[in-house]
Formats: sequence, C-alpha cells, structure tokens
Amino acid sequence: MVTPLQFDMCVAAQTLYRSGALIRYMHNSSLRDGFLSGSANGVPAVNRLLAKLPKNEYMRLLPKMKTVNLVLGQGLYEPGAAIKYIYFPNNSIISLISEVSGTAWLEVGMVGNEGMAGLPVFMGVSSSGTRALVQGSGTAMRMSSAAVRKEANQLGSLHRLLHRYSHSLLTQVAQSSVCNRFHLVNARLARWLLMTNDRLGVEKFPLTQEFLSNMLGVRREGVSKAAGTLQAAKLIRYSRGVITLLDRRGLEAKSCECYAIIKAESDVYLN
Ligand SMILES: [Zn+2]
Repeated sequence: MVTPLQFDMCVAAQTLYRSGALIRYMHNSSLRDGFLSGSANGVPAVNRLLAKLPKNEYMRLLPKMKTVNLVLGQGLYEPGAAIKYIYFPNNSIISLISEVSGTAWLEVGMVGNEGMAGLPVFMGVSSSGTRALVQGSGTAMRMSSAAVRKEANQLGSLHRLLHRYSHSLLTQVAQSSVCNRFHLVNARLARWLLMTNDRLGVEKFPLTQEFLSNMLGVRREGVSKAAGTLQAAKLIRYSRGVITLLDRRGLEAKSCECYAIIKAESDVYLN
C-alpha cells in the first residue's frame, strides 16, 4: 500500500521533474539508483504520462506497477508474440523496430518518459508488428497487459491520456517514415540525438555506430561520416562508443523539421 507521505513525495518529485531539477539530480547524484529502485511501490512517477494522472487514478495504478531496470539491447516484446507487459519509461528509452525481410531493421518509433511501450494492448490487440528494444538503459514502470486492459477502461484520465498518446506516437511514426525516405543522414542523426536527449535527460550516453546504423537504417560508413560532420561543427563529441551533445541549439539548427513536428505533438498533450 502507498502511504499519504509516499504519495506526497511522488507529487513533489513530479513537480521537480517538470522543472527539470529531478532529472538533473537523478543523473548527478550517486543516490540516483537507490532513489529509484529503493522505493519500489512508492517510486515517484517521473514518467510524464503517468505524472499527468489525477491523484486518485495514479494511486489506484501504483500498486499494480513495478519499477524495473531496463538494460541496453534488452528485447521487451517481439513481432507477433503476445505482449505480456507494458512499460512507462522513467529515464530509459525504448525503440520500436520494424524488421525488413529478416535481414535489416529500422527504428519506426521511440518511446521515452513522454509515453509507453505496448500501445497495442490498450487498443485491444495482444501483439504488435514491431519489436520493442531498449535503446537507453534506465528504469521504467511495468504493468501487466491484463491489468492495463482492466484499468484503462475504468480510469477515465488514463484512457484519455493513452488516446492522446496514441495520436502522438502515430505522428512520430508517420514523420519518421517521411524522414527516413527524404531527409539527409546528418539531419536525421541530429533529430535522433535530440529526441534521445529529451527522453534520457542527459547529454552523454553510450552509443555504438552499429546500433546507430540500425536505428537510422544507414550503413555504418554513412553514420560515421554524419557523426564526423557534427563533430567537426563542434555540436557533438564522439569517442570510444560514448556520445556527448555539446550544442543543443546547433543540433536543432542542423536537424530536419521532423524534430520540431514530433516534439510539438508530444508537448501538446503533456503541457
Ligand atoms: Zn526528418
């Protein structure tokens, strides 16, 4: 059970989170891990979708959720297989991946603290055509698909938020396909880095060229060249599999318009 004190801590954490202070604290403090994993049931919802829920709905959901650690490269569900759990990322990122003829794959959507992975469950479908893969390590709130089906129909605000989120994700997926087809690799890389930065809340994260090449659907040489261009312009630093964003404004200027379109859509329902 969640005590009123725990709930107040959640509300305080949500307020801090919205101001950006909590995320900075989480990533700067050695207490971060204890803060998140040590308070299992009373964990503050740093997931922005959950943070939008009214107190009574959030309290009702909390005992049905579990804080889990997601690890880079971990598969959460596979195409065609039943989705057992849905995930509301706190500071982790989940990529929605489409496989191409069993030989290549491409990211069609990215889910971070603005949303949830496992939307088909909410829409009454038990499996997905895409794979959900952890792209950035961190924590998420996990809930069983059965509980989602039951609660989403009974909790009005959750239902409305997930409807709005469905639209936001659809916009992202549609924009990603336009982006993959028409925009230059440098611009796409800038967009991808900005979206990752928004969801992770940190400027520095591990990233291999192979992973990036799969995410963007571009050969490794193409990724390497694009990263080199951004680095020469002092927008990023890329060394030993770790990427550091040095100039967000500069990256926004380099990115195609897709970044602003996708961001505007998620900002609308979260603000
Ligand atoms: Zn684009």
